Amino acid sequence: MAERVLAGYLREKGLKQSSKRDKVLDVFLKTRDHLSTEDLHGLVKQNDPSIGYTTVYRTLKLLAQCGLAFEVDFQDGVVRYEHSLNRRTHHHMVCTSCGDSVEFFASELDNVQRRIGKEFHFQPSRHTFQILGTCEACFKKNQSAT
Ligand SMILES: [Zn+2]
Ligand SMILES: [Zn+2]
Repeated sequence: MAERVLAGYLREKGLKQSSKRDKVLDVFLKTRDHLSTEDLHGLVKQNDPSIGYTTVYRTLKLLAQCGLAFEVDFQDGVVRYEHSLNRRTHHHMVCTSCGDSVEFFASELDNVQRRIGKEFHFQPSRHTFQILGTCEACFKKNQSAT
């Protein structure tokens, strides 16, 4: 299904399908992690060392443009991506000390999205919600330090 979305998008843009791009997509869809371009390149290289960083970078951009990849920003200056295939909508909690992230589900936010959309005559497609703070381990470390 994801292959078809990408193929359709490439056709629309007049771009050729490439086996390297397909491999990047394949590796990306197999993980559930939040990956920076470097992270993904590292995984892709294990499969096919001939695939360069630029190919991974460009493919991720394409995937984001056709809605297969979403950017996640953990406020540390690194752009990461995740895919939404076969996944429920989730949100992230990020520790600003160690960078650890936790995924959580909060279906009540869907109701908020719907209500706000209605109120402003806006057609919402998705939303982001993020909690920043200190994880338990860092909190304990800080406490024992003082
Ligand atoms: Zn932490
Ligand atoms: Zn996530």
